[in-house]
Amino acid sequence: MRQRLFLLLLLFSLFFSFLTVTLLAGQNRRLRLSEERLFHSREDLVQARNLIREEEERNRILREENDTLAGAAGGRLILTFDDGPSDITAALLDILREKQVPAVFFVNGVNVTRNRESLLTRAAAEGHLIGNHTYSHDYGLIYRSTEGFLKDFQRNEKLISRLTDTRSMLVRFPGGSRNSLCATGEGRALMDALKGEMDRQGYLYMDWNVTDDGTDPALYLDSLERQIFWRSSATILCHDRADRALLLEALPRLIDEARERGYRFELPDRSEGIVRF
Ligand SMILES: [Zn+2]
Repeated sequence: MRQRLFLLLLLFSLFFSFLTVTLLAGQNRRLRLSEERLFHSREDLVQARNLIREEEERNRILREENDTLAGAAGGRLILTFDDGPSDITAALLDILREKQVPAVFFVNGVNVTRNRESLLTRAAAEGHLIGNHTYSHDYGLIYRSTEGFLKDFQRNEKLISRLTDTRSMLVRFPGGSRNSLCATGEGRALMDALKGEMDRQGYLYMDWNVTDDGTDPALYLDSLERQIFWRSSATILCHDRADRALLLEALPRLIDEARERGYRFELPDRSEGIVRF
């Protein structure tokens, strides 16, 4: 009887041990499997991340190539300097001569003091065009009436002819052909009359699509380049004024950068896209 009980206990403990080992083995297998799955999903994640990174890098290179191509196409640039002559005109002319770049100077007679007369003569002799930007640049005088404008304009015209012996027939309205005056019906009618009069007299008025107006001095060159380098053709308005002396530093760099991108500097031509507002 005791022997049988012992045998029963032995069998029971053996069965229990077997059961425990089997259960543990099963659990181990499950743990290994989930570990493997985890490992694989981690591997997948790393692979996915790498793919995304590669894709981003490819996109970045494509974008850069695109930008370069857009710039490399280059185009035609017209440089214009308004409101001179000034204390920086001589230095501007030096840069243009060194870089062999032609430009248009839209001058105001009121700034042609006696010691600056030779600047206009020199500019014309060096192949630049002298355009009429009115004598006074004074809105109160020029934008009062057609007659007021023409009187001021003719005074400037006479001065330019005397100093340069040429007539470029180029005009830039102070403030552009759509200036603040055009906000009113009366102002718009006057501007329409002035534009009509300029056309009738054979003058060519031109506006701009790139300007150094309102440019933060620290971003002067950057701002000009951002406005220019996505275009295939630009008329650039810079100011020939002592308060834009930083132009002297920016201009040579702008010219070099533009040429590197395939742009060429030209004078305006009646038959080719004149920028007008
Ligand atoms: Zn002006």
